[in-house]
Amino acid sequence: MFADAHIHLSDPELKSLLHQILLEAKATSKILIAVAVDAITSKLNLELEAKAGGTVRAFGGVHPWSAQSEDADSLRAVLDPSNLAGIGEVGLDRKYAKDEVEYKRQKEVFESMLKLAERLQKPLSIHSRSSVDDVLATLSTYNLRNVLLHWFAGTPQQLKEACERGYFISYGPSTVYSKKIQRLALSTPPTSILTETDGPVSFGAAFQNKPALPAFIPSVVYTLSTLHRLDFEDMRSIIFENTLRYLSLKNKGEGG
Ligand SMILES: [Zn+2]
Repeated sequence: MFADAHIHLSDPELKSLLHQILLEAKATSKILIAVAVDAITSKLNLELEAKAGGTVRAFGGVHPWSAQSEDADSLRAVLDPSNLAGIGEVGLDRKYAKDEVEYKRQKEVFESMLKLAERLQKPLSIHSRSSVDDVLATLSTYNLRNVLLHWFAGTPQQLKEACERGYFISYGPSTVYSKKIQRLALSTPPTSILTETDGPVSFGAAFQNKPALPAFIPSVVYTLSTLHRLDFEDMRSIIFENTLRYLSLKNKGEGG
């Protein structure tokens, strides 16, 4: 039992592979958390979840790159947010804002997503590239249930702050070859770790330049187990339990 906590199953690039992805996930008891970038992909995720049974959990939201043209109303126009398993992918990214006006708009849309997650007490999948400080400052003003900083690439100090707040941090295929990501993963307590692919992103030669698939997850778990000097099975089981906690599918007693 493995989990891909962040995959864009509704991305057109995965369309031709979707059948195979779902078959493989079902056969190997994987949970796939399908994140969205806009209203349309959010709605597609709900349709996928309905078809795939327990294998897929549908998240919906407006990604920073869609924030200039969409907002929470765009989402509500096509679906009932209370039907979503979580809110994501949402966040901030200075690279997608050509000026301060656009960045301000990103912040407004991000906050509307956080309000939704707070009101519905849904888990969040957060994009924080080149904006980690702003993301951390914004998150601290809301009463949020479960927060995942996906593909975290901030500083060790920012990581420490996020872990102390009880946020989850997800690691993907780059953990297998990137020394920087390995250092971050080693500084992350195992109980805060989730695994992801961010498919259809591709991860270079180490993964034959192919779109990332949930079948890559065991390699990520293996690398994490080596870094943390845990048995593969122990690491796998900790990450799977973390995922259930993140989704509030099972409330494990804390602090035991
Ligand atoms: Zn993503």
